[in-house]
Amino acid sequence: MEFSIDVDVQRRIEEARELGAKEFRPAGLEADRNAAPLPVDHPFFERCIERGEGRTRWQGLNPPSARPAPTRTVVGTLLVMEELAYWDRGIINAIPGPGLPEQSVLSMGTDEQKEKYLGPFLEPDRPRWACFAMTEPGAGSDAAALTTNAKRDGDGWILNGAKCFIGSASRSDWLLVQATVDPSKGRGGQRAFFVERGTEGLGGFKIEKKMGLKSYESTSFTLDNVRVSAAHQLGAGGRNEKKAGFKTAMQTFNAGRPIIAAQAVGMARSVLDEAINFAKIHDLTKKDRVRDRIEGIARRVRKARMMSVRAAWLADQQRANIIEASMSKALGAQIAQESASFALELLGTMGGAGNHIIEKLYRDVKAMDIVEGTGQIQKMLIARSLVGLPR
Ligand SMILES: Cc1cc2nc3c(=O)[nH]c(=O)nc-3n(C[C@H](O)[C@H](O)[C@H](O)COP(=O)(O)OP(=O)(O)OC[C@H]3O[C@@H](n4cnc5c(N)ncnc54)[C@H](O)[C@@H]3O)c2cc1C
Repeated sequence: MEFSIDVDVQRRIEEARELGAKEFRPAGLEADRNAAPLPVDHPFFERCIERGEGRTRWQGLNPPSARPAPTRTVVGTLLVMEELAYWDRGIINAIPGPGLPEQSVLSMGTDEQKEKYLGPFLEPDRPRWACFAMTEPGAGSDAAALTTNAKRDGDGWILNGAKCFIGSASRSDWLLVQATVDPSKGRGGQRAFFVERGTEGLGGFKIEKKMGLKSYESTSFTLDNVRVSAAHQLGAGGRNEKKAGFKTAMQTFNAGRPIIAAQAVGMARSVLDEAINFAKIHDLTKKDRVRDRIEGIARRVRKARMMSVRAAWLADQQRANIIEASMSKALGAQIAQESASFALELLGTMGGAGNHIIEKLYRDVKAMDIVEGTGQIQKMLIARSLVGLPR
């Protein structure tokens, strides 16, 4: 494994540091203070578009030869994500763009679907969002248990159900909704459907209250006899029509795990720096118990970082990384939580006052253990893989 960071990645990390300090940290603190996601018309989002953020990775049906696809390593992306999360993890998710469902559309969508749903993200004229809606009040970790259903209606579908904790749902141009077309087939009966904003029957949007990561919305909504055409089924009419189901959704989560791990590492690094600052400002560095906490955080951060970089490095080598991806996700989130907890102890009574960044980080890191498969679920998947059972 190569430990040096190439010049291009180093430059991108430095840019991320500058952007994080200037834009991410203040925007994240503002949302946390207001206990509400940044509104759609917040100037932060306009500046994102001006900087060229919020775009799709898709190159268009006829990519101009002058715009070759950038060849970037997973390790490079992961290190940049770590740096951005250092400044504010919630803001990463608040940024406009095709987000979580983009990978599903890229891998399983037809050309028409890519054009229709990713096309507007090629050069967005305004901040645009999309979201992936899997979780339901009764189906989180056990995603195979979801009950939102799609029933045939002529050549289209009628969708009914309820979703919760869906990132950016109320501001999305379209929602990729996971539903079952045949409950008797379990996960094999699941398909994904594009539901466009404003479709009749899509509604009841309610932004959830969260303890942390308040800068982006996590939203519940309902589908009440929502009618969509056959062409709204992911992959419909294409060679992936039968393949675009539960496995596609899970692949999206698998690919994201080392990134979530790296973001947790970035947050733990932030905790470490803030803890050292606090100890220096309050003349605590001569106390053994204080240095013990700082050493504990630093050692954990390095361990988690090694694991996330290794999972990404294996992906770059086109080698299987499924166990490492789950390990890095479980470990990164656990370490971020332990680090924030250690650092909060240093603050003493100031920690309870709720106006120190360490207290915010303490609330933010919990979600890293929950999103895209909880820590317990990762451990269960690792154990099953180790003994040769299907995941
Ligand atoms: C900030 C945030 C953003 C999110 N964004 C999205 C999104 O954009 N799209 C989306 O679809 N979902 C999203 N989610 C939902 C997320 O994927 C679920 O919260 C997650 O899958 C856990 O499901 P649950 O909350 O229903 O918990 P449950 O599945 O009810 O689990 C509760 C507890 O039991 C444990 N547990 C469950 N099963 C087992 C088991 N077999 N063995 C051991 N322990 C177990 C879990 O680890 C957890 O600690 C988001 C959640 C949060 C907090």
